Amino acid sequence: MPIMNPEEFALASRRAHQADSVVDVYGVTVGGLRPVVCAGPCSVETPEQILACAEAVRKSGAHLLRAGAYKPRTSPYSFQGLGERGLKLLAEVREETGLGIVTEAVDTDTFDLVEEYADCVQIGARNMQNFSLLRRAGRSVRPILLKRGLCATLQEFLLAAEYVLAGGNPRVILCERGVRTFADHSRTTLDLSIVPAVKRLSHLPIIVDPSHATGVRDAVPSMSLAAIAAGAHGLLIEMHVQPNQALTDGPQAIYPSQLERIVSDTASIAAILAQSKVPQPLI
Ligand code: PEP
Ligand code: MN
Repeated sequence: MPIMNPEEFALASRRAHQADSVVDVYGVTVGGLRPVVCAGPCSVETPEQILACAEAVRKSGAHLLRAGAYKPRTSPYSFQGLGERGLKLLAEVREETGLGIVTEAVDTDTFDLVEEYADCVQIGARNMQNFSLLRRAGRSVRPILLKRGLCATLQEFLLAAEYVLAGGNPRVILCERGVRTFADHSRTTLDLSIVPAVKRLSHLPIIVDPSHATGVRDAVPSMSLAAIAAGAHGLLIEMHVQPNQALTDGPQAIYPSQLERIVSDTASIAAILAQSKVPQPLI
């Protein structure tokens, strides 16, 4: 275990704040005993697609809708998202379904616009150390969902959160989404051991994204339940009503029926943990 000096992340550290922090996103509490499920398609594609997906998310019992209007893509030739039109569609489906919206800001140029429409602003893995974006997030009026960088250590992850906290925004939710390792059976390696490690060092809530971590639809249900068993405060899951037609990340998008099952199994695991006499390890 590397030695970490909690003074370096004074605001994110449990020394600063002994109790678990809870972050309110559009009336949904992230960080409490009830695990929160954020779900939706990778991208907003059409009015019909996002409404159908949002209705499936609501029907499943999941708590927040997550979908991208601005997408960080590896290739400049890939679909980059609908931009402002996508944000407007998200605002419309929030009206229709009552679900709060989590959506990504990929740069400082478009942050103001994303902030205007979103209930929670995601900062993606590739931007975890984009310090100007983190500073802007620190001045945001919205909660920030900060994803772990693909090669980020725990210390780097907590220091990225510290940028947002130090900027004056106390509402940060961490998200483990897999890291790059030698393993090639999976898109990345879902590092569930970071969950108890974060909980030991920090008061911030941590959720897990098994979709981007594995890249494989049928790996998502079991990794979701494992994440909750490991103590995660919630999940970020990609779901699409027609995964085979998805413009981005179709192979990892689960079907609505799979999401329903995950939401109900998540509640069962949380109930077992609440009764369990076995202490959760804080490694
Ligand atoms: C996403 O959430 O759609 C995404 C691109 O994830 P990540 O930043 O974790 O790769
Ligand atoms: Mn995606």
